[in-house]
Amino acid sequence: EVKAVVCVGCGSPLQSQDEQAPGFVPSSAMGKENVLCRRCFRIRNYGEFLPVQVSEREYQAQVAQIFDNPGLVLYVIDVFDLAGSLVPNLARFVMNSDVVVVVNKVDLLPKGVRFEALSDWILEQVRATHVEANEVLFVSAATGMGLDSLYRRVFDETDRPVYVVGMANTGKSTLLNAVAKQFDVPNDPYTVSRRPGTTLALSRFEVAGPNGPVTFVDTPGLIHGTRVIDKLCADCLKRAVPDARLRPRVYQLNPEQTLFLGGFARLDFESGVRQSIVLYISNQLPVHRTKLERAEAIWAEHRDDILQVPGPECQSSFTDLTPHPIQSTRRGQRVAQGTIAVSGRGRDIVIPGLGWITLSGEAFRGRLWLPTWLDVAVRPRLV
Ligand code: GDP
Repeated sequence: EVKAVVCVGCGSPLQSQDEQAPGFVPSSAMGKENVLCRRCFRIRNYGEFLPVQVSEREYQAQVAQIFDNPGLVLYVIDVFDLAGSLVPNLARFVMNSDVVVVVNKVDLLPKGVRFEALSDWILEQVRATHVEANEVLFVSAATGMGLDSLYRRVFDETDRPVYVVGMANTGKSTLLNAVAKQFDVPNDPYTVSRRPGTTLALSRFEVAGPNGPVTFVDTPGLIHGTRVIDKLCADCLKRAVPDARLRPRVYQLNPEQTLFLGGFARLDFESGVRQSIVLYISNQLPVHRTKLERAEAIWAEHRDDILQVPGPECQSSFTDLTPHPIQSTRRGQRVAQGTIAVSGRGRDIVIPGLGWITLSGEAFRGRLWLPTWLDVAVRPRLV
């Protein structure tokens, strides 16, 4: 009698410790014959894709299969966390494939977004990681927005696989579920493709397109570890991460005032002219305006009652803040290195995973305080 050590569906070694990792089965199933891991079980029985997360090493071994058998790569990006969506070292695995950047969760974007500007900015950031991408598709896997364009784009791909690649939580599983549902993929979409010498496999399924069958290949989702969402408890996630279309939150700010974005960020307006500052952040995140001279005391004494999120359980990751100087500039004017320059008709200061702050370009000198491990990005205004 042969006892299973790997899942008969995907080939992942079976384990019962980590529900998020590949090969998870309840311990009662360990040691039985012909065991399917929970993920494969659900795919077989419910036609449902579940996110699976792997270590970086396992991940690289899996995406290396794209290089061996190139195709079309759908690179799924969370529109609220571009930095947290970039897959480390992806370039060398997709250099012989075509890459389409699939920007997901656009249902959360506020009204009036200039999509060309967003597309340019995203392509620029993706190319900075040496991934040669020229196409962007905006979709909402959750609402179905934009998926018709995505289907039209992949229907010609009858001769090579369509890979779906993305960091954990970008919405890859939601997208695959939408595709499977749209094309009535039968309940047993899972076939094994194993590369000799590796135990892990990529799951694939076929859809009937107008020009012939198109093969979708799922890849695991890598956990980033240094994103806002990786560090929050479930309650704080609900309030901090946008889950409905963002409404602009407009604040008339005077010099020597401070805005707290929950307990995540603090915007000090040191000098300049009174102006509107627009926040595009979760509608549920408390925003607190105070005098600059009160800011230290609020931070020290009122994180739990006034700023509220992150709460005591997950606060420790957000305690050390780093100041990023901000300065509005005129055309051609230089600023010190590391200073956020707000030029022209203004800039969006992007806080990955949380949203962004729009400054109008009027005279402004100040600082944005952010958790030390969090990067900040600046782009032309989207709205
Ligand atoms: P995966 O880890 O990349 O497979 O991501 P999931 O498909 O599990 O999605 C991660 C989270 O994002 C879940 O909470 C989803 O409900 C949410 N999500 C996925 N797609 C969308 C979308 O188009 N819009 C919104 N608002 N949320 C989405």
